[in-house]
Amino acid sequence: MTENGRHSSPVAHGFAHLETVRAAVTALFRTLSPDGIRAYGTSFAAADAAFGPEEDLHLGAQRVASAMVRALRLPDARVVVAFRPMRDAATVELAAGPEYFVEVNDRFRVHRRDLAAALAHEVTHVLLHRLDLRFPTTAENEILTDTAAAFLGAGWLLLDAYREDALTHQKLGYLTPEEFGYVLARRAAFFGEDPSPWFTSPQAYEAYLRGRALAGRERRRAPLAAAGRPARWRYARDRRAGTPAADGSAYSFERHRGTAGTGTATGTEAATGATAATGTGLRVSFPCPVCGQRLRLPVRGPLRARCGLCGTVLECDT
Ligand SMILES: [Zn+2]
Ligand SMILES: [Zn+2]
Repeated sequence: MTENGRHSSPVAHGFAHLETVRAAVTALFRTLSPDGIRAYGTSFAAADAAFGPEEDLHLGAQRVASAMVRALRLPDARVVVAFRPMRDAATVELAAGPEYFVEVNDRFRVHRRDLAAALAHEVTHVLLHRLDLRFPTTAENEILTDTAAAFLGAGWLLLDAYREDALTHQKLGYLTPEEFGYVLARRAAFFGEDPSPWFTSPQAYEAYLRGRALAGRERRRAPLAAAGRPARWRYARDRRAGTPAADGSAYSFERHRGTAGTGTATGTEAATGATAATGTGLRVSFPCPVCGQRLRLPVRGPLRARCGLCGTVLECDT
């Protein structure tokens, strides 16, 4: 189901769903593997989303749906689109396939430019259904679906469908505009992509910038070596105390006890010249800035670590 923000209460902003969004990105890496995710290197093309008034309604809708099925790498799936009056923007019936029925709001007969956005969400439901990837509650599943759509290259359309003027607003999906921007920025960093030129909505582009700023800060958090001076200073203070930071920092410290359940438990390996025996026995745990998997490293200064889930090599100063 795609939530239809049109004519409803004011658009919610900020990062209220951030924990679920982050968990969704990590779940994607676990389910698809980093190589599986790399297969989604090409984002949905704006040209494929273009759907003008001169094109036949049903043939055009099928054309956009087929492009979405290809973009989300579901080669043997067939999506059949029907228009009907409904409260939501769209809904999909998750059956065994290979044929899936998507119903979309009648207003897309006229507002054709956003049909691809609604289909991005619904076809991502099909993908997650086939991957057997789901979160416990319906609300979390919708966050997962928007996050997956955005991280896998189709969801920038959902953000671009967010538009506001003096009288009306429209927004599709369950993430706030800033959260869509955050996921798109994490995707952009992973693939070396720049979605900036694709936005037709100025409000969507501004939200992308706000989300991108947060994603950028997360790549410069201690104990990553890229952290700025204030972050490093706070980290050193917390390390001396050996306690979790009080200000919501992502790292926490723990005493390393015995030999059971050591470093490899998290799938993390530290690749460095120093040996573990020179450590203090204190370990720091923090989320990988790329996939969100927690790394657990000895506290001993500069070191290079490789994330056990996404394989990213991280310069750290623990
Ligand atoms: Zn949905
Ligand atoms: Zn990672």
